[in-house]
Amino acid sequence: MSATLEHGAAAVTIGGVPYEAVMGIECHVELKTDTKMFCGCRNVFGAEPNTNVCPVCLGMPGALPVPNRAAIELLVKAGLAFGSEIPAFSKFDRKNYFYPDMPKDYQISQFDMPLTQGGVVTFRLPDGSKGSCRLTRIHLEEDTGKSSHAGSRDGRIAGSTHSLVDFNRAGVPLMECVSDPDIRSAPAAVAYLEALKRTFVALGVSDVKMEEGSLRCDVNLSLRPLGAAEYGTKTEIKNMNSFNSVRRAIESEIARQAEILEGGGRVVQETRGWNEAEGTTHAMRSKEQAHDYRYFPDPDLTPIEFAPSDVARLRAEMIALPQPRIDRYVDTEHLSIVQAQQIVDTPGLADFYDATRALGAVPQTTVNFVLGDLARLANETGISVADSPVTPAALAELVALVEAKTINSKTAKDLVARLWSEGGSPAKLVADEGLGQVSDTGAIDALVAEIVAANAKTVDDYRAGKTKVLGFLVGQVMKQSRGKANPTLAEERLRAALDGDSPAA
Ligand SMILES: [Zn+2]
Repeated sequence: MSATLEHGAAAVTIGGVPYEAVMGIECHVELKTDTKMFCGCRNVFGAEPNTNVCPVCLGMPGALPVPNRAAIELLVKAGLAFGSEIPAFSKFDRKNYFYPDMPKDYQISQFDMPLTQGGVVTFRLPDGSKGSCRLTRIHLEEDTGKSSHAGSRDGRIAGSTHSLVDFNRAGVPLMECVSDPDIRSAPAAVAYLEALKRTFVALGVSDVKMEEGSLRCDVNLSLRPLGAAEYGTKTEIKNMNSFNSVRRAIESEIARQAEILEGGGRVVQETRGWNEAEGTTHAMRSKEQAHDYRYFPDPDLTPIEFAPSDVARLRAEMIALPQPRIDRYVDTEHLSIVQAQQIVDTPGLADFYDATRALGAVPQTTVNFVLGDLARLANETGISVADSPVTPAALAELVALVEAKTINSKTAKDLVARLWSEGGSPAKLVADEGLGQVSDTGAIDALVAEIVAANAKTVDDYRAGKTKVLGFLVGQVMKQSRGKANPTLAEERLRAALDGDSPAA
């Protein structure tokens, strides 16, 4: 495996030696199903505590689990999106450990035969460059309940007077995505997580709301001299509640480990919690000994067998995936990475953009309208661009009018607002109402002469060296033309008139 491992740039220099950070990420993602993983209880966030529970998810003796087919299919789709292998045979295992919010005292999970194996997540770094991270596996398990600790100031168990348990989350289908240790920097970790999120949202696999806990991630991090084959001792960082805290936690942990190594110390293998307020990680528990979860196949659940036709059906249901789309926008449409991600991340915009482009509209002007005026109007009115009266055909016409310089940018802006409320054809509006840009030098010179005559004082100021009044005079010419003058030509003719080499002077 180390043969295919890529080395990144140095994260830190320790004792004059460049070191790189090596990270793997484990992500827990709650699946967006109607019901829980092994019972018919509703899977919703924010219900009254302990209202969505039954003997199965409360772990009552004798209650038997029934797997949720929808959850299995969602997970397989997630795997297919990243090119994972879907083994024909997989099974559920019991992972045995005690946790106060896990009523059965074991968690149904998958040990050696997960639903998917392998795969690659590709992403773009903020500078537009490409990155990738291999997946080890994606497996399916059930979530635990949730404990709240009361009586302590910060809600932590230390100093609390009593604890409460809500089992609404117990048994919610949870997908765990385990990555290979391919991540080399904090921005790459965030880009990887954003790529997962974008894909899961597009596929309808999950809401991926970190603030509601439907995506939780742990980062394993170690440092090693750049180019070394051996891994350093890793720590696991937990409790990040936003992508920004993931970035900050990684940067803080790299600095902490570097300081230990710099001082000749040894990094201890342990789990560390991220403290958002202090911006530091703290030791939670030692991981020196591997846990013995005594996994064994769950005798209440039959193994899952996938026929090739099942996989083919799920593959056929896959929609256009966001990450390849972003790559296409950047590589062949030459949009910026920010533009590409914005259209892909706003529901319906990418389809609208593609439909407009299919009619021959040029990419950059199209994306400027889509992300500019149209996205703003969608925000202001609460109507999506796709549901608005503006059609891709109308936008393609508008783009063509701008590109041909038939209308100026001011008229184009006004037209977008009119199309948004009334629909219609911009070419027809321009023809019917004579909105075409005035680029006729004679007509512009006539307007310039009027403005020069009406603004004697300002003209004197300009000629006396206060050239910044030019903008005001250009504005007056534009206004006189009712917004239709070609602004570049207006400025050029005005400047000529004021500088004295035009008949208008
Ligand atoms: Zn239940």
